[in-house]
Amino acid sequence: MAYRYWCGECGFRTPWLSRSQGERKQLDHYAARHPGIEPGGHVEANRKNPDGGVGCLPAMAVVVLLLLVAAAWHR
Ligand SMILES: [Zn+2]
Repeated sequence: MAYRYWCGECGFRTPWLSRSQGERKQLDHYAARHPGIEPGGHVEANRKNPDGGVGCLPAMAVVVLLLLVAAAWHR
């Protein structure tokens, strides 16, 4: 299964990766962009398309929308 890690501080997200790869990317991102901040955000699991690609666009749109709302709420 593929995982995508979303940054809790900005709109950054990793590509679809394995769990350990995604975790490392997320940590790298925090180290580079948000030094001193505990890594947060959330993990998205790709159950239907382990290889990525366009699968469940409506669900994706909802996730992105929620994220935008959350980001706006944060400021
Ligand atoms: Zn970020």
